[in-house]
Amino acid sequence: MNKKSFLNKLIYLLGSKLRNPTLNIAYNSLKSTEFASESELKDLQNKKLEELAAFCYQYSDYYKSIFDTINVNPTKKPFGIEQLQKLPILEKSTLISKNKELHTLNKFDFKKVFYCETSGSTGQALTFYRNEEWDSFNRASIERGLSWYGVFPWDKNGYFWGFNFSKAKVLKTKLLDFLVNRFRLFSYSSKELDLFLNKCKKAQYVEGYSSMIYEVAKLANEKKISITNLKLVKGTSEKIYPYFHKETLKAFGCKIVSEYGSAESGIIAFECPAGNMHLNEETCYVECIDGQAVVTNLVARSFPTLRYALGDYIELSDGKCVCGRQHRILKEVTGRIGKNLIGISNKKFPSLTLYYVFKNLAVNFNIELAYRCEQRAIGKLDVFLECSPNPAVQKLLINEFQKYFSGDMEFQFNYVDSIQVKGKKMKDFESYLD
Ligand SMILES: [Zn+2]
Repeated sequence: MNKKSFLNKLIYLLGSKLRNPTLNIAYNSLKSTEFASESELKDLQNKKLEELAAFCYQYSDYYKSIFDTINVNPTKKPFGIEQLQKLPILEKSTLISKNKELHTLNKFDFKKVFYCETSGSTGQALTFYRNEEWDSFNRASIERGLSWYGVFPWDKNGYFWGFNFSKAKVLKTKLLDFLVNRFRLFSYSSKELDLFLNKCKKAQYVEGYSSMIYEVAKLANEKKISITNLKLVKGTSEKIYPYFHKETLKAFGCKIVSEYGSAESGIIAFECPAGNMHLNEETCYVECIDGQAVVTNLVARSFPTLRYALGDYIELSDGKCVCGRQHRILKEVTGRIGKNLIGISNKKFPSLTLYYVFKNLAVNFNIELAYRCEQRAIGKLDVFLECSPNPAVQKLLINEFQKYFSGDMEFQFNYVDSIQVKGKKMKDFESYLD
């Protein structure tokens, strides 16, 4: 290890020791069960669930009343997955309306909590406090994922994250970035991009919004710049579309590895080097109910969420991974549960329909399209495609659409250089209908 990386490691370790005193404990605990057997993981989950339920009963007014309603007292009787499944599913609206009752801060004295705010696409902001041990498990889960790629958290890394910074914010962000050996892209300007890509040549990994990684990869490929030294390209917060990989492989030498999670539920899954997303069984229990992800956060205490409907459609797999990890496999995050598309006859179609249309096109015809759709009027759908106009492809696409919409929707095709809306999170469907 050279002097500079030794210094970076030291700064990182001192910083995390101050911020997260229990980070090491969490990390070692996660590493110790990385190759645990299926039954060991189940036992661990049941044990954590029992402790969590008892804690909720004692310290959360919301859960006290829920448990009383279903006649379960987890402080007296064993509580496992079977009992958990008696609980109603928790919606985001409840996290907002019963925010105070859900929190345990009034009754339990936490050594340290962090304030969290999530905006979310549904409009209303959710705020809550995250206890230090929970926060440490989040960080440790990410660090365990990095370790699968031979990456240390203090390694030099590039960050594709959030534009629209004020000048004061840029300065503060740069200082914080320095502490974690990170550099970041602040705009898509050619000069800024060159600087960023140059720094990538000395980095171990890059991470950020997957749509931004994709955009930058495209620009790098246009500039004929290819980076060959990265151990990991990690995509967070957004769905990773298959067509992203072609450009990132070319520009960065790696496909985008997926880290899946949410502010309320923590890290839910992390993709292993064999290409499977393993559930983070030690920190969350995931159910798939009617295609929806329902997550119980096993490490949260200050703001516990049991059976929380995350708002994503997912598919779980029964398969085994060649990497040897027995953590269940999340096959795919198929889409956000969101607004519906409205047909000419006022019939509602779930936005997931779009996912199937484009997936069919990819699977049956080997056509990978970068797409985004908007609805601004009933019965009309604006389809944005990132390619040059191609009547044959358009015809195939219309055929696929008709399988689902059966003439109940009109389509307007727009061929664009980029489907990305600058400064906005990438979404495959946006409805402007009330
Ligand atoms: Zn694996």
